[in-house]
Parts: sequence; C-alpha cells; structure tokens
Amino acid sequence: MAYKNKESTFKIERYKDGAYCIFALPIEREGRLYIVELLKKVTADDFFSDLSFNLALPLNTTTTTLTELANTDELTKVYNRRYFETQLAKEIMYSSFYETNLAIMIIDIDHFKQINDLHGHLVGDEVLKQFVEVIQSVLRHDIDWMSRYGGEEFVVILKNVDFSHANKVAERIRQSVERHLFKIGDHVHRLTCSIGLSMCQAGNLKQTELLQQADQKLYEAKNNGRNRVVS
Ligand code: GH3
Ligand code: MG
Ligand code: MG
Repeated sequence: MAYKNKESTFKIERYKDGAYCIFALPIEREGRLYIVELLKKVTADDFFSDLSFNLALPLNTTTTTLTELANTDELTKVYNRRYFETQLAKEIMYSSFYETNLAIMIIDIDHFKQINDLHGHLVGDEVLKQFVEVIQSVLRHDIDWMSRYGGEEFVVILKNVDFSHANKVAERIRQSVERHLFKIGDHVHRLTCSIGLSMCQAGNLKQTELLQQADQKLYEAKNNGRNRVVS
C-alpha cells in the first residue's frame, strides 16, 4: 500500500509469535522509490498494557512526522519532488472538477554553478535557502505553494489565477530575486533567475504536458538572455 499510494501507512499484524506494529514509509532517493518499514513487537509490551493510555495520539504524531520528513526537501525545507508530483496530480483534478485555472512556474537560478565554483558549495547551499525565502515572500500564504524540483530549480503552483495575474506574480518573483542582497558571511551576492510559466485551464492539460510546456518556456527564457519570464 505504501508503495502503490506513495503514502505512509500503519497497521498492526498478527504473526504466529505475536502481534507487530508496522509502519511503512515511502522515501524517494535519486528517482527511486524505497519503502522503509519499522517493526515493533507489541504482544507482551508493558507500554500497551495500560489501557488508559491513548495509543492513537503518539502513533498519529509519529506518522505525521514521518510523512512530513518524506515530503520535505532537507536543505530548503520546502516540499520535495515526490510530494510535488502527487500533489500536482490532485491540483489538476481540482482544476478540472471546479473549472478553475492553475499556473505553474519552473524557476531556475541563472549561472548558479559560478556561485559554487567561486565561493564553495556551502555558500551555494545558503544562497538556495535564501532564494526560497525570497520566492515565498511573494506567494500567498496557505494558497500557493512551492517545491524543489531538483538542484537549483524550483516549481511554484498558483491556484485560482488567470494568465495575466500569474504573469504579474512571476515578474514580481523575478524582480524580488534581482533586487535581493544575498548576504552570506562577509560577502553579498546578487542573483537573477529565469522563469517558465504555463497554465492549466479547467484541467485542459495533463501533468506531463503542463510540465513540458513550463520547461519549454524556461528553455526559451534561458536562450533569450536569462533573467526573464516567458509564458
Ligand atoms: P544556467 O543559467 O544555464 O541555469 O546555469 P547554471 O550554472 O545555473 O546551471 P547548471 O545546471 O550548469 O548548474 C547548476 C548547478 O547547481 C550545478 C550544481 O553543482 C549546483 N547544485 C545543484 N544542487 C545543489 C545544492 O544542493 N547545493 C549547491 N551548493 N549546489 C547545487
Ligand atoms: Mg541554473
Ligand atoms: Mg538548472
């Protein structure tokens, strides 16, 4: 179930030698899905013998924590690609059902490799963290969301927006990044980013088509000189 639904699952199972509490947690590493299983024999456990103890609460907390860990990018603390892909499928379904629009942006830092080459990987990591904060400061809290798509590429999902509004938000992100002073140690770095924007209108595009379109627009933004939005 954990593998098929890509969701953490929990169950208590009886074997010949007693009952086991089993957590199954999906984790994606380098494009492959693994399931981590945690087994705890609970048959004669004192912990469970006290019936006044509310078992559901700590188990819920544990599964929530494990799920959060599995969905979060370790460095930047935004959603990871695994979460992005499952959640985008749901967003497209909502867009189709409620006949609303959905905008997706792929945002890629320009010449990011130079930061690493000139100042080292740790500075690069700090830049990535600040980059996420700059983007998040533009987004509507609890409505729009972002995820790390890979290396120095991020995706942003804007819900219930029209094309013109989505373009304005993308342009605001581009300008905020361009103006931001990335202060790390004694240095101040300046950055720009390129953005590919595509729209799903009432579920008219499949997930792969939507992503391909945004990726193609990003490619155009890079080819046309970077530091721009193409939609
Ligand atoms: P472009 O304008 O064409 O996007 O150039 P670029 O240098 O940004 O693109 P390129 O794909 O050549 O380089 C991306 C770099 O991002 C290379 C890789 O080392 C770096 N990178 C990817 N993930 C991380 C990370 O987690 N931390 C750090 N510090 N660097 C990362
Ligand atoms: Mg780049
Ligand atoms: Mg890139």
